[in-house]
Amino acid sequence: MDSAYLHNSIFNIELKRRELELQDLTRTEVKRRFEDNFRVFSKKSAFTCLCCNKPVNMNLTKDEGRPFYFRHNDESECSYSENTRTYDKHVSKLEDKSKKDIGLTIFREILEGELKPYNVEIERGFHYKKKLSFITDFIIKFVNSEECWAFDYFTAIDQGLTSGRYARHLSKRMKTYKEEGFKSFSFVDYSWLSFLEETNKGTLLTAETYVTSKTHEDDLWDKFLEGNVQGDLLNFFMQVTGATMREFNTRNIAYVDVFNRLCTIFRFIPTSQHDRNITFYKLSSSEVPLTRALSMNADQNHFVLSKENEDDKRNEFLKELTEQKKQFEIEQQKLIYEQERIRAEEERIKQEEEKRRARSKAEEAGRLKQRQRVQELEYEQMEREMQEIARRAELRPIEVHPDGWNYRTKRQAQYSNFTYQQTPTVSNYENTEDKIDKKKKEKVREVLLSHPISGELYIDGDTKYWRKVVLKWINENQSVDTLTVSLQMIIGYMKSAGISFNQNDKIVKYPIKDFLELYAKTLKAELKQKIELTVQE
Ligand SMILES: [Zn+2]
Repeated sequence: MDSAYLHNSIFNIELKRRELELQDLTRTEVKRRFEDNFRVFSKKSAFTCLCCNKPVNMNLTKDEGRPFYFRHNDESECSYSENTRTYDKHVSKLEDKSKKDIGLTIFREILEGELKPYNVEIERGFHYKKKLSFITDFIIKFVNSEECWAFDYFTAIDQGLTSGRYARHLSKRMKTYKEEGFKSFSFVDYSWLSFLEETNKGTLLTAETYVTSKTHEDDLWDKFLEGNVQGDLLNFFMQVTGATMREFNTRNIAYVDVFNRLCTIFRFIPTSQHDRNITFYKLSSSEVPLTRALSMNADQNHFVLSKENEDDKRNEFLKELTEQKKQFEIEQQKLIYEQERIRAEEERIKQEEEKRRARSKAEEAGRLKQRQRVQELEYEQMEREMQEIARRAELRPIEVHPDGWNYRTKRQAQYSNFTYQQTPTVSNYENTEDKIDKKKKEKVREVLLSHPISGELYIDGDTKYWRKVVLKWINENQSVDTLTVSLQMIIGYMKSAGISFNQNDKIVKYPIKDFLELYAKTLKAELKQKIELTVQE
């Protein structure tokens, strides 16, 4: 107990101690001053309990910082002594003691000044004439009515965060105040305010939620929000705030900066609930001097706390939200346009690419066709040459060795002195025998160009073309009755003639080999011409 009656006035031993300490007296000097001036009154039982009137004894503790106190002489308990013990226990366990001491001194001074005209008694909570399980910092009693206000300043709201102990403590405390018939006012130290201007959102610890309150102004906000934030606008609000709550439940919390003597009322709606805290969305906040906040309202039933009537703020809130929604929709529309533009652009590029590819494919096909035509023309030329060679072979003079004849035919003049087997005249060349021969050769050519060859589909392009190319190669490389073929070489020859394959060379060798065999077989069958065919890899 820090107070006792002395000569019908309240003597606060702690207040006195602090006064002396402020005069720069040491603990020992302070104690001596008390011993010299007041010990004799204690001995004469002049100090009596504020609660039960029993004589109390003055106790001066030795240790620095510890409070001086009174105790019943008979060491018995009354509600005052018990409440004091409960209060001290809670403060030392759950509060920032030094901050609380300073804060309560300031609060007391302001409360006494502001409430002076209203016939109220401002008393420390532990002076309550009834034993309580939770002791408020101040009790404000209205002398002319039953009304009683509980006033608390919370300094360390994060206590027992993980265990949730402090939250439970505050929850029980508020319930007890209500049961006891107190109207409760809670002020949280400003250092606990956590709010982000950019998102308009903040966090309240579960403990803090128990010291929020709901006033008439909050009810007005609820009605306003329910009436104006509906349908699309409500959906938009839920979306941008990430809110999960089912209804608007406006509340407020009072933060106090005791050093600057300022009070900030934060009005908010809880938007989502988490394990140890809630996320809130700020509706308004007003910072007023503590003296203004703690002055009596017009109805004399509440502190003023904030600037009264927030109609303008509500309209401003709605205007801003509507504008924000409009802006958001414009942005969304822009985004959709931009996406469509990108898609169209991609489609255009794709189509152009396809056109380009088709064009280059057509050009390639054209080039291939041209190349094949050139090859065909070359082949026809070669065919004519071949026929000429064959014709001349038949004209070979007996004296000339066949190996030498083919070569020499190119220098026709050299053979003018040889005796020809036949007279080479144009008219003779067209004789009946020649006609039969020509027919046979055409048949051979027909067979060679059309007889099915297995594995031919490994070779791209017209089936006649590649056969013609191979025949051309044979003509260039065949001696009279022997034909030695290197498949690798002939494949190279075919490639240089513009032929492509859809299988590897090793596989392509099979149809080529078959064709060579067909060639030898057909020549033998149709022309009675025996060719010694040697096929090399
Ligand atoms: Zn007592």
